[in-house]
Amino acid sequence: MPPCLSEAERDRLTAERARTFEARYGQLGAEAALRLAIQTLFPGRIALVSSFGTESAVLLDMVARIDPATPVVFLDTGKHFGETLRYRDALVARLGLTDLRSVKPAPGALAREDAEGLLFARDPDRCCALRKAAPLKEALAGFEAWITGRKAFQAATRAGLPLFESDGPRIKVNPLRHWRPAWIADHFARHGLPPHPLEADGFRSIGCFSCTARSVPGAGARAGRWPGIAKTECGIHFGLGG
Ligand code: SF4
Repeated sequence: MPPCLSEAERDRLTAERARTFEARYGQLGAEAALRLAIQTLFPGRIALVSSFGTESAVLLDMVARIDPATPVVFLDTGKHFGETLRYRDALVARLGLTDLRSVKPAPGALAREDAEGLLFARDPDRCCALRKAAPLKEALAGFEAWITGRKAFQAATRAGLPLFESDGPRIKVNPLRHWRPAWIADHFARHGLPPHPLEADGFRSIGCFSCTARSVPGAGARAGRWPGIAKTECGIHFGLGG
């Protein structure tokens, strides 16, 4: 894209491009969509963003089989369960992924705004902005597109997800948008993927330890995240900008 464009014009062109891709390829299944995105549409210019949560191994496995050198961005907030960090390292080694990028919040910003590490309790939106959105925006600089693991069944905020959508100057690819829990379980079984170690302990959706609780049987897919408050998303999908 020409560098002389205004931000608004650049974002408008990206949105137009996402709509074109959606119209042309929106019916593709997960593996075909990933192959298209990684090898044809954005070769060398796309990253997978993974939380290494309970369902993450599906996309990581597919991406590893297409191109294990695909950059994988993990937001190391400093508040993850040790189990998640060890699961991340074990999965990366097992799948042969060669470009894991664990990105941390800026130390200066942390010292200024969250020196005592309790911002999550006072202002969780600001904490997510500091520990997740800002590092992700920096990690994605230079990429044209990123892959997310979001699925429509997970939350009302995710219903109607397209395969391609724009986010400022970048395109987001959602290959698992239509996947159901049974398909995920089937993929784990067929490919012998290890579960997140906390799943057997009652955790269904796993984020930072300070904002994640066990979910009760029958609760929603993201139950247990930010328990007791209305927050349901960390905000990285509400527009990172460029
Ligand atoms: S999930 Fe909680 S601890 Fe993690 S970045 Fe967001 S508010 Fe902070």
